[in-house]
Amino acid sequence: MGDYGGIGAPVRALKDLFPLLFQLASAKDVSVAEVMEATKGQLLWNVNFSRMAQDWEMSSFADFYSLIYSVRPNRQQEDALWWSPASKGIFSVRSFYKALTQEPIIQFPWKKIWHHKAPPKVSFFVWTASLGKILTTDNLRKRRIIIADWCCMCKGAGESMEHLLLHCDIARSLWNEVFGRLDMASVMPKTVEAALACWASLRGRQPIKAIWKMIPLCIMWCLWQERNERTFEDQARSMEELRALFFRTLCSWAIAVDFNGMALQEFLVSIVPT
Ligand SMILES: [Zn+2]
Repeated sequence: MGDYGGIGAPVRALKDLFPLLFQLASAKDVSVAEVMEATKGQLLWNVNFSRMAQDWEMSSFADFYSLIYSVRPNRQQEDALWWSPASKGIFSVRSFYKALTQEPIIQFPWKKIWHHKAPPKVSFFVWTASLGKILTTDNLRKRRIIIADWCCMCKGAGESMEHLLLHCDIARSLWNEVFGRLDMASVMPKTVEAALACWASLRGRQPIKAIWKMIPLCIMWCLWQERNERTFEDQARSMEELRALFFRTLCSWAIAVDFNGMALQEFLVSIVPT
C-alpha cells in the first residue's frame, strides 16, 4: 500500500517529501507510535537509517529532523494509516480505482533540460528527445525512409526513442549502475519527458546539486553517442567501456562546476567505480 502515508500523512507523506531518506530508512512500515518516545515532556523520534548520511545528504536530513520535531502529535488520537488518495484518509476501492486511472500531470521539465552546466549541444539533444523528435529508426520510418527497425544496442526488434534511452537492456544496465551506486531504487517511466520530470531534486550543496542534475542527461547522451558509433562507424563498446564513457563524460562536465575543496572528490569517490 505504497500510497499510505506515515507521519504527517494528511498533508503529504514523508516518503514523498524525502524519497532519498525513505530509501535509507531501516524500517519503512513503522507507525508513529513505534518511533515516537515521550519522556518527561520531551519528545524523541527514534528513526533509524541503514547508513550514515553522506555529505550532500546532510541538508535533507536536517530538513527531515526539523520537520518531524516541529510537529506535536495528538497523543489522544489513535495512530492509524492514512490513505492519501481519499480526502478522509480511509481506503475505498473507488478512490483506489480513481488513483490508478488518473493520468499524472507532468509539467514539461525545461529546467531539468536547460538549467545546468552540461554542454548546450547536450541540452539541445535531450530537449529534442523529450519532444520525441530524435532520428531513431521508428521516427525515420515515419518519414518514409526505408530502414530496418532494429536496435543496434540489444540487437532486438524496434528502436524507438524510449527503448533506446530508457528501456533497452543496455540503457537499463547503465541507469541501474547509477541507481545502485546512489543507493536508489527506481521504476523507469514510460517516456523521456517523464523520466526527466521525476528525476528527484536533491537538496544539499550547490555543486553537488549541479552534478546530480547532469546525470540523466549524461546517460542519455552517452547512449546516443554509442548508438551512433554502432550505426555509422560499426564500432561497439563493451558494457564496461560504456560505463567508463559515462563516468568520464560526467567528470568532464563537472569541471565546469565551481567546486571548493573536497565536495567534488567526495562525490566522485562514492559513485565512480574503482
Ligand atoms: Zn535495444
